Amino acid sequence: MNNPRRNTRGSSTTSGGIRVRAPGIPIKCWCAESIKELISKTNLNPYRRYYRCRYAAQRKLENENHIFKWVDEAFTDEIQQLDYHVRMLEEEVQVLKATITSGPKAFWVSVS
Ligand SMILES: [Zn+2]
Repeated sequence: MNNPRRNTRGSSTTSGGIRVRAPGIPIKCWCAESIKELISKTNLNPYRRYYRCRYAAQRKLENENHIFKWVDEAFTDEIQQLDYHVRMLEEEVQVLKATITSGPKAFWVSVS
């Protein structure tokens, strides 16, 4: 149980459109193949890790639009998404806190 989200996300998408720029960490390629993590061996990006469509990786395809994404960029995307969600939740908590604390405070003030 290292990543429970793998089973929940993207399992219900049956009608596949081409989504080359999938946000965050890619789970599946548009061709329904799973994603493989590989290490770049090019001079431009030596030892840089990337995600690749398993189908394309096996056939060593180049210049097509199967999933390719740098791991560091995927993580940055993921963090930005999480950051956004945290901010939304924080706002919600602030609203809830305000509604919760306004009640009892008013009560205590009126008693003393
Ligand atoms: Zn693919």
